Amino acid sequence: MPDRFKLTFYGTRGTRTVAGPEFVEFGGHTTCIHIEAGDRHLVFDSGSGIVKLGQDLMGKHFAAGAQGPLVSYLFHTHCHYDHIVGFPYYGPLYYPDSTTYVYGPRSPMMSFEDAMRAFVHPPYHPLPLHEMEGVVQWGEVNEPEAIFFVKGQEEPVVVNVKHSRLRQQAPPPEEVETVVRCLRGYNHPKSGVMVYRIEHAGRAVVVATDVEGYVHGDQRLIQFSKNAEVLIHDAMFTRDTYTNMPVPTQGWGHATVSCAMDVGRQADVDRIYLVHHSPAHNDAKLRQLEEQARELFPRAMSARDGHSVDLLEDFPAKT
Ligand SMILES: [Zn+2]
Ligand SMILES: [Zn+2]
Repeated sequence: MPDRFKLTFYGTRGTRTVAGPEFVEFGGHTTCIHIEAGDRHLVFDSGSGIVKLGQDLMGKHFAAGAQGPLVSYLFHTHCHYDHIVGFPYYGPLYYPDSTTYVYGPRSPMMSFEDAMRAFVHPPYHPLPLHEMEGVVQWGEVNEPEAIFFVKGQEEPVVVNVKHSRLRQQAPPPEEVETVVRCLRGYNHPKSGVMVYRIEHAGRAVVVATDVEGYVHGDQRLIQFSKNAEVLIHDAMFTRDTYTNMPVPTQGWGHATVSCAMDVGRQADVDRIYLVHHSPAHNDAKLRQLEEQARELFPRAMSARDGHSVDLLEDFPAKT
């Protein structure tokens, strides 16, 4: 099978879903990004967009004759509703010949598994997770860990890559097909977010949603995103909503277009996708924000539900 590294947006809206004729072009589903890396399905956040992704994966699985289990890997940035609301409706959870690896940030408040189990449970949901037939494997990740996907091995290896002794547990580079790296973002209330960098076939994608900014740019995020082909960055607020009285949104944990462009420019990325669109922004407003972004960074786009990018075809390897 030829190698693949393909990214598809299944949900690009922030905070809550929207629907109606004014939201057709960009879509109304909350955060879900699908990345095919080799023959693996990596998913970032299970907002409402994951429902269609589950249907697509199940459809392809059965169309191909359902050989072997359906395996997918879900990484969560954090537990806010807009990033998990589709999880109970992810088709593979109900399919007995599936394994879903579910990762989330390690938190001082409660385990990620406990948080998700509490959410997918009566009285909020008719079926608790343990009554669903698919196999779920739980994991927690934190900076400075990286998740290594090794040739021919289903379960990834999680390693603290900055620890002088523990990093030796990382598999040999020639056996590694894909790496997911973690950066903890502290600027999202109240327990932060996880930012992920996905590396495959010499290309890199950074998923940085629900992040705000700092004076002179978020230097940790800029270093983390350095030379990535694609940076997916929060751009929920306009300059006006960010700063104007009576209710400025500074400190709410989301960025503006100029903040996102600043990170992308300093990180020397090739393309920036704006995500976590405000429910208050219809198609016309999002097109306007996209134009503003392009004045600052010509290769910027506002992400649209259903949009795909082929990392191997669209970007030459930099090595
Ligand atoms: Zn959010
Ligand atoms: Zn959030």
